[in-house]
Amino acid sequence: MKRCVSITCDFDLAIGKVNLNEIVYKLKELRDSLMIRMLKQILMSYDDLIMDRLTRTKIYPSKMRKGLGRHVRKDDAEERFCRGRKVYRRGQRNRKIKTVFGSLDMGVRRAECLTCGSRYSPLLNALQVAPYSRKETNVEHEVTEAVIDTNYRRLIEGRSIDISLGGVHNIVVGSDIDKAFQDHIPAEDLSGIMADGTGVKQHKGSKGELRTVIGISQQGRVVPLGSFVNTSWPEIENVVKARIEGTADHPIPFVYDGEPGLDDFLSGAAEMQRCTWHAPRGLYHALWEDGLKKKESQPQIDKVKQLVGIELPAGDFEILKEEDKEPVRTRYEKSKKEVQELISTFYEKGYQKGASYLESLSKQMFTNIELWLSTGIIAPKTTSLLERVFREIGRRLKRIAWGWSDAAVTNLSKMILIKQYAKDKWEQFWKEKLGIKGYFNIQIQTVQTVEINLCPTF
Ligand SMILES: [Zn+2]
Repeated sequence: MKRCVSITCDFDLAIGKVNLNEIVYKLKELRDSLMIRMLKQILMSYDDLIMDRLTRTKIYPSKMRKGLGRHVRKDDAEERFCRGRKVYRRGQRNRKIKTVFGSLDMGVRRAECLTCGSRYSPLLNALQVAPYSRKETNVEHEVTEAVIDTNYRRLIEGRSIDISLGGVHNIVVGSDIDKAFQDHIPAEDLSGIMADGTGVKQHKGSKGELRTVIGISQQGRVVPLGSFVNTSWPEIENVVKARIEGTADHPIPFVYDGEPGLDDFLSGAAEMQRCTWHAPRGLYHALWEDGLKKKESQPQIDKVKQLVGIELPAGDFEILKEEDKEPVRTRYEKSKKEVQELISTFYEKGYQKGASYLESLSKQMFTNIELWLSTGIIAPKTTSLLERVFREIGRRLKRIAWGWSDAAVTNLSKMILIKQYAKDKWEQFWKEKLGIKGYFNIQIQTVQTVEINLCPTF
């Protein structure tokens, strides 16, 4: 059904005085109220079209009333739908609906069903606005975006959206963002998985723990896998394992910084790789427990740093010649041997803690090299990407989520992850939520200045 909205604006400009800034400034002021008035015109036309079809059933066969006039039978305890699709006009009722452009006030037509006598508003029904709902979902969208960008105040002050911090909290808690964390991710798309936790301030200053798991795509991009607040690692492991498919055929390293709770994380699905940045530094603590001072342990730490620092040649594995791979293999084997020698030396010197630290580390030090040698996949070997993700989440959470509940922090961190690192998914999530399916299109036809006679003759 094609219709036309016509807009006439008059403007008045002081010749020789006005500048561009003022023109743009005033147009900006007009923006939201113009949109509200267009929306009102569109809805009024739609209301008329609907009423026409529901009242003049002789002209409009039932096929043309499809999707219109659905209502619950009057006084039906079981709330069954009425089959009646013919109505009488029963005037209109004022409705106020919050939109992203501000509050819309309009008269909505009322109908009375000929079959059951129920009174309802066919327009609201057709628009899928619940009878008592006071806002449309775009508001929720804008508020959410603003919260993530840590500046919901600017949004609220700049526009007519009227929402309290408590209202924002409710929107976040009520969000079904978890839907964006349920699809399966093929293991072959991933070059690594990382997990870690960070502290977050919650209600009354209590400290909670935010735990996040990310995948790294073959192209080196972040693939959000999960975000949890005050949840145990085994529980997180189950959720994440269920999302990754085909791990049996595609080995992926799990990179972590040595957190004890993660020692067996994703075992059976991934190969452990200790972060090559954190691992040598962890030796300092172990040797300190053995009684070594910083000066004495530093050379050992430097040695381990050098052993794990095997660089992989750039370029496509398939086109690399065997002689390009050989130096990596040689250095890998040499490093492995030297680690074993170092462990023996530690035992000999009585560094029990240092030796056992290095012993457990040695099994998880070269996973990325082994993977590259057997498959050519360049896997991450440090957790630096995840640390960047945490900084990003932390910066945003700190500004808004202080004092929030587990559910709110969980959802907000998920939203930040998806919005920041999976833009397509974020857009898809909102399109589905808003029900955008291509049933409404609008174009600007003409925008032109018309000469008007300033001194009309009467
Ligand atoms: Zn009815």
